[in-house]
Amino acid sequence: MDRQQEFVLRTLEERDIRFVRLWFTDVIGTLKSVAIAPAELEGAFGEGIGFDGSAIEGLSRVSESDMLLQPEPSTFQVLPWRTTDEHQGTARIFCDILTPDGQPARSDPRFVLKRALDKAAQAGYTFYTHPEIEFYLFKGPLERGATPEPVDYVGYFDNHPGSTTTDFRRTAISTLESMGISVEFSHHEGGPGQNEIDLRYADALTTADNIMTFRTVLKEVARDQGVYASFMPKPLAGEPGSGMHTHLSLFDGDANAFYEAGAEYQLSRTGRRFIAGVLRHAAEITAVTNQFVNSYKRLWAGGEAPSYICWGHNNRSALVRVPMYKPSKGQSVRVEYRALDSAANPYLAFALLLSAGLKGIEEGYELPDGAEDDVWSLTDAERRSMGIEPLPQSLEHAISVMERSELVAETLGEGVFDYFLRNKRQEWADYRSQVTPFELQRYLPLL
Ligand code: GLU
Ligand code: MG
Ligand code: MG
Repeated sequence: MDRQQEFVLRTLEERDIRFVRLWFTDVIGTLKSVAIAPAELEGAFGEGIGFDGSAIEGLSRVSESDMLLQPEPSTFQVLPWRTTDEHQGTARIFCDILTPDGQPARSDPRFVLKRALDKAAQAGYTFYTHPEIEFYLFKGPLERGATPEPVDYVGYFDNHPGSTTTDFRRTAISTLESMGISVEFSHHEGGPGQNEIDLRYADALTTADNIMTFRTVLKEVARDQGVYASFMPKPLAGEPGSGMHTHLSLFDGDANAFYEAGAEYQLSRTGRRFIAGVLRHAAEITAVTNQFVNSYKRLWAGGEAPSYICWGHNNRSALVRVPMYKPSKGQSVRVEYRALDSAANPYLAFALLLSAGLKGIEEGYELPDGAEDDVWSLTDAERRSMGIEPLPQSLEHAISVMERSELVAETLGEGVFDYFLRNKRQEWADYRSQVTPFELQRYLPLL
């Protein structure tokens, strides 16, 4: 047993932990949890603990439904909201999914990301990410099907003393930090009841785990405060959607591979090629970065969400932005990808962004000129003449682009690629067969 495992086992005793929740994520990005008695954990570290994988969407075919969970000791944390004076403690630990013969399950999103990170490591790179996570707070309890009511009607960066959102952010951030997740910024966002919390950068696997924890923590804190936290990409028509802009950088040892002193925006050739890769493959990865029917209502209805494939420096209408850097801090040069929404599976999305960027580096893609105009205000003809293409406009469109992508098939692996497409085709078919309130309101009085 290694020292980290010993530390976890000791903590179980010292903190009087009663349940250990084993956490993992399915292909669509839903967090799954199974609780074990603390005495089982030691064995789970060794050869894993068996569970029925066929119960989980996209994980295994029925014929190979026995799977193993193997906990990753560095992710052990006590859950603060379950560990109180009245409750004995509960902890959680992220797991890798293994097949019965101990091989990584190819359908485990965590494995998909690890495989992409290994490929980057072979090229000498570590991939860092930091997400800006937007979400809405609605009055609780949630009523299924009803239009939700925001907890306030203030806007971007508004200071609103004594408001629900200020208290909410404070408690949410303290809870995250007590679980080892550092927060850099937080503020009210543009929509009523909309907020943003930005996590400090970390390696992409840690960030993806942190995002899964973040979603759970926020839902728990909200429930405790009698409100409802939602990561739905566009919950309110006419108000901004919830994006998860993510800052990306590659490090070569201690050096930021995107940094070159004196270059334009201090952006190195590697950084330019990385952006070129992300742009060239952006349409192919959109079904994953924006995976729901609802995601396209965010992308195509303004509210500062990106709709067109271009990059710029401090241009908030661009898909990729090279943010302002502090001249003293070359290490902070990075690339912000703005299409991702708050409901994406972070493991799969990061794997694809990394693969797209690495492809640009490997193949030496040329970066097109940056767009410094507001690309929303240009005409289609102007955008075309600048070589600026739109992102997919619907889930159906995104699926049809993804289906033909070698990069996505290779990065996700056959099982995840096929399952994802099947799942999303079904979602589109379900949506297409609806008769919506829009149609009834628009057509029934006339037709
Ligand atoms: N809510 C916007 C989006 O959906 C982003 C606003 C911002 O620039 O932070 O992407
Ligand atoms: Mg924001
Ligand atoms: Mg941003």
